Amino acid sequence: MATTPPAKARTSAPAAVLEIDLAAIAANYRRLAERSAPGACAAVVKADAYGLGVEAVAQTLWDAGCRFFFTAQLEEALRLRAVLPDAEIAVLNGIASEDRRLSLENRIMPVLNSLAELSVWAAAERPGALLHLDTGMQRLGLDPRELDSLIDDPGLLDGIDCRAVMTHLACADRPGHTLNMTQLDRFRAAVSALPRLPTSIANSPGLFLGDAYRSDLSRPGAALFGVDTSPLQDAPMQPVIRFSARVLQIRDVQAGDSIGYGADFIAPAAMRTATIAIGYADGFIRALGNRAAAMLNDHRLPVIGRVSMDLTTLDITALPEAALAPGDYVDLLNETITVGEIAAQAGTIGYEVLTGLGKRFRRFYVDDRSGAPARASF
Ligand SMILES: *Cc1c(COP(=O)(O)O)cnc(C)c1O
Repeated sequence: MATTPPAKARTSAPAAVLEIDLAAIAANYRRLAERSAPGACAAVVKADAYGLGVEAVAQTLWDAGCRFFFTAQLEEALRLRAVLPDAEIAVLNGIASEDRRLSLENRIMPVLNSLAELSVWAAAERPGALLHLDTGMQRLGLDPRELDSLIDDPGLLDGIDCRAVMTHLACADRPGHTLNMTQLDRFRAAVSALPRLPTSIANSPGLFLGDAYRSDLSRPGAALFGVDTSPLQDAPMQPVIRFSARVLQIRDVQAGDSIGYGADFIAPAAMRTATIAIGYADGFIRALGNRAAAMLNDHRLPVIGRVSMDLTTLDITALPEAALAPGDYVDLLNETITVGEIAAQAGTIGYEVLTGLGKRFRRFYVDDRSGAPARASF
């Protein structure tokens, strides 16, 4: 197991540790690329690569063959440019007109989300850009009236080097939803009325909807990072992260003792508990109180009582006495406890769990975890 050590100056014992398996991200990319047109699988690395650190993640994806990257914001794109001088980079949310020069200097492309943006960007030197058509989300992208104007006057595109025309699916994670086919039909009709351009449709779940949703440039994000996004997926994505927290205390509590804020859990009998250094300020969502479980090897350790800002209590009664001591680490997310499982317990989606992990942890990048022991010690 090759682990990048933390910076030398940082020698304190970490309260929480996020371990990121870069080889698994590369494997997930290759798998998604197989479902895409040859050589045409981009990577969406917005929100600091879904919270996993855009620099290391982007370098890994580049080494795995990815050449096209999307971020949500220009700042994210500039960070990416600093590590990938030769990548194609586009900004999904578009680029403010006052940032036009900055983005041109850094060869960062806007996704043009309206005709007004198209006219701001059109110029003799024909800057690279993507064109976004809204086919059913009503967030960003040319609306049907703007599309009609463009079809009437395709010369509006002359001032840009349009690298692709894209749309975004609202319900790709629900294969039976009729909006999928409606969006596809609208997009096909639009594309056939415009000058011939490469197309871009599928996000992660869109890649599992079938060949009809294939396009010249797919745009997966979450699936790269181990999130299972589609019920049609034949096999789970490779798990990418392990999130663990340090045990601060082991306690014996008596029947009738209450645990944590609000006395939300009353011990029904004598039990042993572990107080761990994780809380909602770390992205361990407060709604997980009395619901989630941590793991030590194969043992599930239920969360009891409320999750506080910095602390959470586990029921460890079922463990042998010597199994856990202060200073040990237990897993909150790993190959068994997926972000999807935690999300279901908290009433949200895996994307929010992943991107919500705070900044208050030590991050390790692991090149290959296959030979690692079941539980890493730090
Ligand atoms: C976030 C995003 C993606 C990636 O979506 P995943 O579901 O994470 O694969 C693709 N396209 C657009 C427009 C997005 O906003």
